[in-house]
Amino acid sequence: MLAAFVSPADSIIGWGIGQCFSTPLGGVIVVSFSVEELIKAAAEARENAYAPYSNFRVGAAIMTKGHRCYTGCNIENASYGLTCCAERVALFKAVANNERDFTAIALTTGTDKFISPCGACRQVLAEFSLNIEVYMANKNGEYVVKSLAELLPDAFKLEI
Ligand SMILES: [Zn+2]
Repeated sequence: MLAAFVSPADSIIGWGIGQCFSTPLGGVIVVSFSVEELIKAAAEARENAYAPYSNFRVGAAIMTKGHRCYTGCNIENASYGLTCCAERVALFKAVANNERDFTAIALTTGTDKFISPCGACRQVLAEFSLNIEVYMANKNGEYVVKSLAELLPDAFKLEI
C-alpha cells in the first residue's frame, strides 16, 4: 500500500510502503490506514514497554483522521499509581502534536488474548470521540474490534 510520509508540519516528504515511523521529536508519521499496519505498529511499540514490575507489556498505536499514526507503550513506575497505559501514551503523544481527531486505536499485549483498554483509557479516549474504533489484537495479529461507544456506554461528559 502506498502512503504519503508526512512530517509533523504536514509537508509531504516522500512516498513508500505504509508504515509508522518515529520522528526525531518522538512523534508520528504517516500512512494510509490499514488495520494490519496499525496493529504492527502497536506490536513494535510494545517492544519499548517499561514494565519491570508487572512484566505485562502493552503496545498501542492510534490513527488520526489525517492518517497519521502515533505509538505508545506502557510505562510503569515504582510508585505504581503513576504508571501510564500504552493507549494514553500514544494518545498524549498525538495530542501534544496538535492532533484532535482520531479514527482508530490498536493495542496488543503480545499474548493469545484480546485485551481491552482499562476504564481510565476509555474515558481519556472518549474526550475526543466515542466513534474511535478499538482494535484489540493478540500476538498473531488477529483482533476484535469495538467502537469506543460500545466499550464505554454512558461516558462522562462535562456539561457546564
Ligand atoms: Zn489504560
